[in-house]
Amino acid sequence: MAAFQGNVQPIRLKYSVQQALGKHLLSCYPHEACGVLLGAAAAGGMLIDTYVPLRNVAPDPLHTFTPHPEEWINVLYNEPTIIGLFHSHPHSAPIPSVADYKGLTALGPEFALYLIGSPNTKDSGNPILNGFYIKRLPDDRGGNLFRGLSQAPLHVLLK
Ligand SMILES: [Zn+2]
Repeated sequence: MAAFQGNVQPIRLKYSVQQALGKHLLSCYPHEACGVLLGAAAAGGMLIDTYVPLRNVAPDPLHTFTPHPEEWINVLYNEPTIIGLFHSHPHSAPIPSVADYKGLTALGPEFALYLIGSPNTKDSGNPILNGFYIKRLPDDRGGNLFRGLSQAPLHVLLK
């Protein structure tokens, strides 16, 4: 049942989710896209089965993302199967930025996964995606949590 130490379980996503991420990423371009990932823990790794796009209302949407507050609250309260957060890097590789690490502190424990996507100039329907598990560890001052990201292999499930 438990993964061997050091053996990172893959993050699996449905083909329809990959397509939805690619479409949203391109429709927001050159701004960053953001949204919430729904799914469940499954044998062999987490499975993402639905993507809920959210409007990015950041003052500087070219370089940051802030989900629309009403849409964000709505999805948090009404979607019991939230497992992760997605956003895009329209102008750079899908690697977490300093701001991305800082933003992790705002996420509740239901957020287990963190996906970042970048446009694929060779195949627009097939975004470049990186997936990470959000790590939560107690710090030595008590109470507060340190959050980090550990990259996981991404598997797209073809129907
Ligand atoms: Zn970012």
